[in-house]
Amino acid sequence: MQDPVRKVVIAGGGTAGWMTAALLKKVLQAQVDIELVESEDVGTIGVGEATIPPIQTFNQFLGLDEKAFLRETNGTIKLAIAFENWRKQGESYFHTFGAPGATLGICGFQHYWLRARKAGLDASLWDFDLNYLGCKAGKFNKIQSENPVYNMGYAYHFDSTLYGQFLRRLAEQAGAKRTEGMIEHVSLNTKTGFVNGLQLTDGRQVTGDFFIDCTGMRSLLLQKALGVAYEDWSHWLAADSALAVPSQRHQQTAPYTRSIAREVGWQWRIPLTHRNGNGLVYSSAYLNDDKARNMLMDNLDTEALDEPRKIRFKTGRAEKQWHKNVVAIGLSSGFLEPLESTSIHLIQSAIVRLLKMFPNNAVTPSMEALYNEESKDEYETIRDFIILHYYLNERDDSDFWQDMQRLTLPDRLAQKINAFKDTATVFNEQNDMFRDASWVQVMMGQGIMPADYHPSADVHSDSAILDIMAKVYEAKQQPIAQMLSHDDFLARYTKIQ
Ligand SMILES: Cc1cc2nc3c(=O)[nH]c(=O)nc-3n(C[C@H](O)[C@H](O)[C@H](O)COP(=O)(O)OP(=O)(O)OC[C@H]3O[C@@H](n4cnc5c(N)ncnc54)[C@H](O)[C@@H]3O)c2cc1C
Repeated sequence: MQDPVRKVVIAGGGTAGWMTAALLKKVLQAQVDIELVESEDVGTIGVGEATIPPIQTFNQFLGLDEKAFLRETNGTIKLAIAFENWRKQGESYFHTFGAPGATLGICGFQHYWLRARKAGLDASLWDFDLNYLGCKAGKFNKIQSENPVYNMGYAYHFDSTLYGQFLRRLAEQAGAKRTEGMIEHVSLNTKTGFVNGLQLTDGRQVTGDFFIDCTGMRSLLLQKALGVAYEDWSHWLAADSALAVPSQRHQQTAPYTRSIAREVGWQWRIPLTHRNGNGLVYSSAYLNDDKARNMLMDNLDTEALDEPRKIRFKTGRAEKQWHKNVVAIGLSSGFLEPLESTSIHLIQSAIVRLLKMFPNNAVTPSMEALYNEESKDEYETIRDFIILHYYLNERDDSDFWQDMQRLTLPDRLAQKINAFKDTATVFNEQNDMFRDASWVQVMMGQGIMPADYHPSADVHSDSAILDIMAKVYEAKQQPIAQMLSHDDFLARYTKIQ
């Protein structure tokens, strides 16, 4: 048994460190002291600009004013990711955060859409998705309606450094203490193996009862000091490198991220209000760094504002994310490439999980085990969702894409794909952050056309199902005309009154 947890030390002040400090302080208030140690000399990874919708809940819980948040982080609205050339060169589809179609019965909208196609419908699944329509029109507005047909889920693009600074102010105002210093050594209790302090290069010692490792890919506490092993997933997700470069903003700010598949890997474009974030994610086994650099720089559609920065990574996760009195949050706990913008969400969900299981007194093995089980499941379901995009490609222009078609899939993913192919049904895992609509869009976007659909869709005659579809279509199209352009929305919404 260890001492009661009265002081939490957070090692690292990137997005993970400051998100953790801000939320822990907000919830636990004076129950725990929080000290965050970070080194400006080490710095942060400095990427991570696209998010998924649950970040709204995180920000709301912290009491962030959305207008101020967008203003201070140069943020924009993200309705979707456009996947270009992923299935085949020249083809594209959207993975939106919306609710395609409408609830028409016990099964998903795709079943009714398939039924309607049999009756002669020629509209695509996405034509029934308000988010998609907003992306195509470059428009956005907040829709005040209880009707789920008008649900327009959204997330943000933002400057991650500015977001970190924003959260730092909040955490410090709430009483978190920041210590500037370079961690040189992590000292362990010789009897229990628990961490009892961080030794800084200038000789200072930062002690605590519970430690949160937010030291990024270095994982100084969990992996280095406590020796927790890393599970390597590069046999499924081959990318191990990225080049990131900012470029001039576009005249019109798109309300979505672009993910453009290249000969090896893919390129992102993230629109912020003051610039675009760009990068190439690739596998060094298929493409050398010089060629990767050219591939990125030749494909920027606005002027580069800097030299590209190289980042190496290994896809996978720490076998345990909580060990003894250390929990790793952020890149120290693992990394899945940024294809579906999931890392910041994994930080958020790890903090919430930790808070739910936060020890009132001593750290207990039962909580540790539960925490580890949930986070493993969460990581694995996201991993599978990302593999899906690569595996289902039909490209024949490079060894990279052909090899991706030959991947040996995790069993759960293989079952999911087969079930969808046969029946149009998505079987969802409890801890999967991507719900049915996401899986449907990516599976169909990557080329699966299910062989069958649910029998309940057949209760409608041909004319009845076409009539229902026409009504849903009209309902979805109707709000677009009244919406503002994305730029006008941002300008009006974030204007200081
Ligand atoms: C190419 C790429 C693109 C990405 N894009 C996205 C995206 O679009 N969306 C998304 O959600 N996520 C994205 N991510 C992930 C995202 O960047 C991270 O999840 C997020 O920034 C959190 O990083 P972190 O805080 O864990 O680590 P870091 O930012 O690396 O922070 C580590 C902290 O630890 C401190 N530190 C380290 N060593 C020491 C030491 N010895 N002494 C003192 N302090 C130390 C550093 O100073 C720093 O404060 C991307 C990642 C990569 C690699």
